[in-house]
Amino acid sequence: MTDKTQVTLPTIAMLGAGSMARAILAGLLAPHVSVDGAVRVTNRSAENAARFDTEPRVQAWATANDPEANSKAVAGAQIVLVAVKPAMVPDLLDEISPALAEGAIVVSVAAGVTTATMEAHLPKHVSVIRTMPNTPSKIGLGVTGIAAGTRSTEDQLELISSMFSTVGEVIILPEDKIDALGSISGSGPAYVFYFIEQLTKVAFEHGFSAEQAEKMVQGTFRGAVELLAQSGEEPSELRRQVTSPKGSTERAIAVFDEADIKGILLKGTQAAIARSEEMA
Ligand code: NAD
Repeated sequence: MTDKTQVTLPTIAMLGAGSMARAILAGLLAPHVSVDGAVRVTNRSAENAARFDTEPRVQAWATANDPEANSKAVAGAQIVLVAVKPAMVPDLLDEISPALAEGAIVVSVAAGVTTATMEAHLPKHVSVIRTMPNTPSKIGLGVTGIAAGTRSTEDQLELISSMFSTVGEVIILPEDKIDALGSISGSGPAYVFYFIEQLTKVAFEHGFSAEQAEKMVQGTFRGAVELLAQSGEEPSELRRQVTSPKGSTERAIAVFDEADIKGILLKGTQAAIARSEEMA
């Protein structure tokens, strides 16, 4: 659950206002969050920067209009969130390095870019924290893994945890676990949507209309997750309550066990980890 206690944050610059950064920005603009000054946001296109025109707590620049946009945004900022595509991170860090304030924390959401790579592209007077958020952050139900770089302090880690707590749950972990976390919670929303898509196709096979299938499948996912959240019971217990001995659900679960669903999920996550390592 999103932490609704008051969160106070210093000056923040967000570089790359794409879908991930906008999700985090939504958390920072929540009523219980106070950020020192306007959140500075940069983006490539003027159209995207203009979408923040009506938000008084945001100051946006487009690099298309102003080649100095990123340097202006980071000047004096205590937290600099880097949310561009992973391949663009090193060049962006080189670009902003001269403008970074003493003691600034550079926080990356870029998949696969290590703190060692980032530290190599930044001056010694700034620290680095690597994160792996996920898309439900958009509705305040995200899960973000956070790993310290070699120069970041406990207080800085705490500060960045409180920043990400505005968009959901936070897990602090060593960096060598961040790709594994990414393979579960980072990619995980895609797995859930994939299961929903597949079960919807199965409903079609059984002759249901699109409207009926959507009601059945999405209603069941929503209901089961909410039941899990509200009941406080273990998933295994809730499953047992649906699975009478020798009943029809038991037969279906036996088919899933025979196909080794857990083994398939393990292989999938291992493939995701291997791909993250390739991209690093
Ligand atoms: P996106 O393409 O939506 O956003 C990237 C933005 O960066 C674009 O709006 C682009 O205009 C801007 N940009 C590019 N170069 C720039 C520059 N030099 N200066 C300023 N702005 C610049 O991508 P996204 O899905 O938001 O992903 C961004 C980062 O978030 C990636 O590194 C990705 O690995 C990470 N991430 C994404 C997800 C996800 O589920 N989408 C999850 C975890 C981490």
